[in-house]
Amino acid sequence: MFKQEKFKGQKACVLGFGKSGRAAAALLAEKGFEVLISEEAPISHIDSFSLPPGVTVETGGHSARVFDCGFWVKSPGIFPNSPILLEAKRRGIPVFSELEVALSFMPKPVRVFAVTGTNGKTTTTALLGDVLKENAVAENKGRGVYICGNIGSPVSLCACQVQKGDDVVIEVSSYQLEDSTYFRPQFACILNITPDHLDHHGGMKGYIKAKAKAFKNQRENDVLVVNGADAVCAQLVEKAKSKVLAFSTHPKHLLKTDVFFDGDELIFSEGYQIRPPHLKGIHNVENAMAAALLALAAGVPEKIIRKVFARFEAMEHRIEQFAYHRGVIYVNDSKATNLDSTVTALKSFEKNHNLWLILGGRDKGASYEVLIPYLKEYCKRVLTIGESMDKIEQELHGAVSLTRCETLDRAVQTAMNEAVRGDIVLLSPACSSFDQFKDFEHRGKMFKQLVNARIFKERVDGNK
Ligand code: ADP
Repeated sequence: MFKQEKFKGQKACVLGFGKSGRAAAALLAEKGFEVLISEEAPISHIDSFSLPPGVTVETGGHSARVFDCGFWVKSPGIFPNSPILLEAKRRGIPVFSELEVALSFMPKPVRVFAVTGTNGKTTTTALLGDVLKENAVAENKGRGVYICGNIGSPVSLCACQVQKGDDVVIEVSSYQLEDSTYFRPQFACILNITPDHLDHHGGMKGYIKAKAKAFKNQRENDVLVVNGADAVCAQLVEKAKSKVLAFSTHPKHLLKTDVFFDGDELIFSEGYQIRPPHLKGIHNVENAMAAALLALAAGVPEKIIRKVFARFEAMEHRIEQFAYHRGVIYVNDSKATNLDSTVTALKSFEKNHNLWLILGGRDKGASYEVLIPYLKEYCKRVLTIGESMDKIEQELHGAVSLTRCETLDRAVQTAMNEAVRGDIVLLSPACSSFDQFKDFEHRGKMFKQLVNARIFKERVDGNK
């Protein structure tokens, strides 16, 4: 476990100069450590930066200086079996996750809520965070609520502000979990587990093992919320020491559930009835169930949950309908970075064969074959972009009409030229964005910009 007293006076090495690496370095420096940030990428690949006192940086590779440091903090994106980490292991240098280091600096007690899963993490974290904030206002006891992790700001950034008794809601990725050993949230949630990041975790087994760390160290009085219809979750919870609460929207579930959906409201075993937020898709009912179970377990009155759910709005890049032009609807689901989230997005529409699906980007190792039945039911045409085009084409075996577009720009052009009234153009790529974009937000914003610019031009031309 990372304990600052244990490493006092020793130099810290932060591996990776991304968002969480910078935040971890700043936190350690503030706490009196001398910090070396070591980054493999050349300086030309790095966004502009300023360093706090006590922090130095090396780029373009790791020098022998890293081995002078007493402990390392690993950025989540670095492959677990990269040569530099194997060398640290060989030398017996302790390596911690940014998450564990950040939590170690928070005063005790705080209530830690960890939300993980393959899909739905951000939406559920935002919902839960909003509910806990509303509750803190109602309580009027000065409880702070921090929403951090993958959702936006690294846990290290808020570590110095958190006070005793506060709530810390963390969206936790499988990468952060994999790097953690002692992580123990009092409230944990696993929304679902389907294939994703298989390249990073060396397969499904490694991915599931990482996710299980969300509750591995939990104790009897802690709470674990899981998807009762997810076969992997159902099997995993057999090992949980904590109190398990399950949700499901499926009639067939594997665990006894504590909430069900009657088509209109969430019905809880305690008798509460709460209307889910106005968000598209049954998957969002599940996200709402998970957030509500966590909040109720933390003692939040149901009227607070009801109030927050009633005002909660769709989040950007998540099945976000942003334009309607000449009878065609445009939907940005850039956050769909794996196959399951694209299937979820497709299922949130009618089976009308009217979708123009923009698919592709950086491949993550799973087979696109699972998409075939859905593409047949929902899509008019698939437009492929990015590095994974060839693989997609091969694995779909000509099952659906497909056009290779290479770039998002060309996919938008094709869709806008050929879509007719009643059609829907959906960006839901099932791949990560890093082959052609900075991140999924950049990809989603570019998509919206390309579509809106063309709509604007057509309207201006139409007025001439
Ligand atoms: P994450 O943070 O885990 O990527 P988000 O809340 O940002 O999840 O949602 C990303 C996409 O994943 C959504 O656009 C939707 O297509 C899909 N999704 C969201 N929630 C769920 C869920 N509970 N089950 C399956 N798919 C989901």
